[in-house]
Amino acid sequence: MAAPQRNSDPGKGRRDEGKDNVQAPTSAPRALNFIEQAITEDLEAGKVKDPVRLRFPPEPNGYLHIGHAKSICLNFGLAARFGGTCNLRFDDTNPIKEEDEYVESIKEDVRWLGFDWEDRLYYASDYFEQLYQWALQLIRDGKAYVCDLTAEQTKKYRGTLTEPGRNSPYRDRGVEENLDLFQRMRAGEYPDGTRTLRAKIDMASPNLNMRDPVMYRIMHASHHRTGNDWCIYPTYDFTHGQSDSIERITHSICTLEFENHRPLYDWYCRELGIFHPRQIEFARLNLTYTMMSKRKLLALVKEGHVSGWNDPRMPTIRGLRRRGYTPEAIRTFCDRIGVAKFNSTIDMAVLENSVRDVLNRQAPRRLAVLRPLKIVIENYPEGQVEEVEAINNPEDPGMGTRKVPFSREIYIEQEDFREDPPKKFFRLAPGREVRLRAAYIIKCVDVVKDANGTVVELRCTYDPSSRSGTSSAQRKVKGTLHWVSAPHAFVAEVRLFDHLFKEMYPEDVTGDEDWRSNLNPNSLEVLPRCFLEPGLKEARPGDHFQFERLGYFVADAVDSRPGKPVFNRSVALRDTWAKIQRRDNQQRA
Ligand code: ATP
Ligand code: MG
Repeated sequence: MAAPQRNSDPGKGRRDEGKDNVQAPTSAPRALNFIEQAITEDLEAGKVKDPVRLRFPPEPNGYLHIGHAKSICLNFGLAARFGGTCNLRFDDTNPIKEEDEYVESIKEDVRWLGFDWEDRLYYASDYFEQLYQWALQLIRDGKAYVCDLTAEQTKKYRGTLTEPGRNSPYRDRGVEENLDLFQRMRAGEYPDGTRTLRAKIDMASPNLNMRDPVMYRIMHASHHRTGNDWCIYPTYDFTHGQSDSIERITHSICTLEFENHRPLYDWYCRELGIFHPRQIEFARLNLTYTMMSKRKLLALVKEGHVSGWNDPRMPTIRGLRRRGYTPEAIRTFCDRIGVAKFNSTIDMAVLENSVRDVLNRQAPRRLAVLRPLKIVIENYPEGQVEEVEAINNPEDPGMGTRKVPFSREIYIEQEDFREDPPKKFFRLAPGREVRLRAAYIIKCVDVVKDANGTVVELRCTYDPSSRSGTSSAQRKVKGTLHWVSAPHAFVAEVRLFDHLFKEMYPEDVTGDEDWRSNLNPNSLEVLPRCFLEPGLKEARPGDHFQFERLGYFVADAVDSRPGKPVFNRSVALRDTWAKIQRRDNQQRA
């Protein structure tokens, strides 16, 4: 789980300290989870001969999301932990929804997450001929039959959870007739949906998956790899276990929905007399304020609610990456949440904390003002510029320092000034002093307003003896603000993101509503003219920074141009002042 936070001192305001105050993830050895225990038991009992073999089996019908990342980290992680291997296998049995574009993106995403399948890249479609032979074997053994019921009839015959099913009128066809019909199915003699091949198991089984499940359906469709070689395609259930078996996977890790499929998985392996992997189920990852369904994510893209699969608000690996989440942060998150046997929903904050923890150690600090308020320092000589020295990362002295220009006119954040400051507001106000990070202590001596009474400028004085890093700078003031020198600022676009959905459980809806009604209309805020310290002009796409007191930002990989980067906020810092305000508002309410 998330590392406990240290208590922040509301008087001081953690946000005002300019660093993100969380504990680094511990690397202490943890107890084995239930999957690791199961594998250990199998190894100790000699059921599995070293080495263990795992696989990550995506269907190439969409882009990977954070839920898949959990499965990837789990499978590749188990392989690493037990000194085994993990395959990447595309589960490509449905020609209608699958595309090469997805294959390529999945490979790229798995690699980006930091995992390597080496030469073990497989496709279920490579096993089509073997699967066909195994289907013939089951027919010959009297364990499979060709059924002429339509899809609708098949459903009616299946029964329900409380009622047994009825045998198909075609169940007792002879072996020869079945062989003939199945071969003619393959030869393309029948239209789509007119026949299926079914396993002959038990129409009265309490497990619906065991009620003569379909093994093959007729689909005259071109497949992304096998083209028009086939017009019958095996179902997931008739493919998955056998693919595991061919690859001699020792432990087939899948999500809980497949628990009810396990008897069928075992039945096929047993009846075919082939290598029999052990299926183990774990709870899929659900996160608050987002969705994991590929179908719904596709709808978000197709309907234009987001700019694409890589929109920084998407829970896809591409989206998170563009948002500035790093592979290490995602792996840390997957490690922290662990694996469970019961479904639950993880708070998005756990993911965000992992991002903060990793970037806190890695991201250089920079000064940036998003919503500028101009300050003129009256006693600072006109035309003078000095370079002050700023620390790049207080967490890592090795990252050194940099020079930042300081001058008579600077910008601070609008929200860092209050004409009438509430209690515990340790920022700038008339007559008050604050320190400018890495520079001087200033005092607000006058407030300039426009005709509407809006504050447009502050007049301040500075204390020349208070320059940071000098021996005379000992005087303490309560608040430290970030700032940027006005004539030197680099003006850039910055994008801020909020949750894509305004509800914690966006798919929980009532009546006629659907998840679309829970979309957050304010999930994207574009600030076209932010004032950044000049060095940020050189940021390259994918570079990470902490903009002091504002959060972690990344130079956008899509819209940045050389010398003209655009920044995405990956995650805000934990904001103590906002917390105090929220609490006060609640108390007032
Ligand atoms: P579908 O099968 O409905 O298209 P899927 O999300 O299961 O969607 P797959 O490509 O089959 O997509 O998933 C690949 C692997 O990732 C599977 O082993 C699946 O169990 C796992 N996986 C998918 N979603 C999650 C999740 N939310 N949490 C953990 N593992 C997941
Ligand atoms: Mg699946």
